[in-house]
Amino acid sequence: MEISLEKTVMGTTVGEWIARAPVIRDVIEKNEVLWLNEGVLPFEKAMHSSELGREDVADASRRLSRFAAYFKKVFPETKKDGGLLESPLARISKMQAALDKKYGEAIPGELLIKLDSHLAVSGSIKARGGIYEVLYVAEQIAMKEGGLTEADDYAVLADEKYKKIFSKYSIAVGSTGNLGLSIGIISAALGFRVTVHMSADARAWKKALLRAHGVTVKEYESDYSVAVENGRRAAQGDPFCHFVDDENSRTLFLGYAVAAERLKAQLDALGIEISKQMPLYVYLPCGVGGGPGGVAFGLKLLFGDNVHCFFAEPTESCCMMLGLATGLHNAVSVADFGVGNRTIADGLAVGRASGFVGRQMLPFMDGSYSVSDERMSALLKMLADEEGIKLEPSALAGMFGPVMLAKKLGALPRGYHLVWATGGGMVPAEEYEKYYNEGAAACKRF
Ligand SMILES: *Cc1c(COP(=O)(O)O)cnc(C)c1O
Repeated sequence: MEISLEKTVMGTTVGEWIARAPVIRDVIEKNEVLWLNEGVLPFEKAMHSSELGREDVADASRRLSRFAAYFKKVFPETKKDGGLLESPLARISKMQAALDKKYGEAIPGELLIKLDSHLAVSGSIKARGGIYEVLYVAEQIAMKEGGLTEADDYAVLADEKYKKIFSKYSIAVGSTGNLGLSIGIISAALGFRVTVHMSADARAWKKALLRAHGVTVKEYESDYSVAVENGRRAAQGDPFCHFVDDENSRTLFLGYAVAAERLKAQLDALGIEISKQMPLYVYLPCGVGGGPGGVAFGLKLLFGDNVHCFFAEPTESCCMMLGLATGLHNAVSVADFGVGNRTIADGLAVGRASGFVGRQMLPFMDGSYSVSDERMSALLKMLADEEGIKLEPSALAGMFGPVMLAKKLGALPRGYHLVWATGGGMVPAEEYEKYYNEGAAACKRF
């Protein structure tokens, strides 16, 4: 261990933290580990402490439907889905067999993948929450200043009249890359001025793409928390600037939560029925928590006790697991325990989780686990070889969940195992090739 057991974190020694929550030793040693949440409650009970409810998600869903006409007009690639940003759900039986063969853990039931990597506009899960929050802001402004009503055809928002109104306002956000892409592209399309504060993890191609869309990109040498703080400060006191607060936003969270009702329809179409006998297990890559937390919340509303959700993080950035296991949530960061937050999974490179999401989701989550960079790399290559699906490293954090759960429980419960593939659709070919080659090397050991 690189850290002294005598060091204090929030007034308690590291040694004492380990005694209270043994998983912290694994966090410190950067071991891959699965933590089962003893605080998970039956769904109805968990709802008692929930800040958000069914109607909040339904409201977000209706808002997205109102914007469908706008998307069909401005992003014609969304026409096939009726102007909604939605991604395919697929069975991956070859990958299922390959995982079994390589790691010796059978997956009873079916392995499924949700390809948010292929969402229109920005190619990651951020196309759900991030875009939704900008639409929410745009709608309010358009109603106040342009006379828009809910009954209108929202395609009018592409007119010069509204672009001119939006151009008085600006949007700001801090990001490791993908949130910036979503917010930047949609904000610029609507006519907002937009600034993205990027952490050092952000890939060069993401910054270049945003600049090509006319977005102002500010770069920082430090990690995500610093980029967010700078964005927040720049926006403060400016009534014409909306700061998208990835760490605290209920709006973002609700945008993500709408994914669940869409998934339900896709499961129905595949003839898959979720039940007590065949429950759904979902493995969700987690950065600050809003994306996976929001999706998990939506799924709990629909499937209750028949769905089991897990956060998936890099061993270098397992801030959500640390926050949940200590109960400290955003009062603690992985750095407090000597962990570096350096990972190839740039979408998950977050050292301090959202306190809002941690508190909101603690009674709903079955657990949280961590995977090494090499593991994500190896799985990236395997998925390409077996299924021809190309993802970015972050999006593979979910793929090891069934194997880890099987090892933890002795055998995996029978059910549908759904891996949420959160990004990668816009990675340039030469970047992807580098990831793939790293994966080929990692595959030998992982
Ligand atoms: C942002 C992101 C996540 C996680 O979302 P959070 O809201 O930060 O938890 C997962 N995968 C990818 C590819 C991402 O970009």
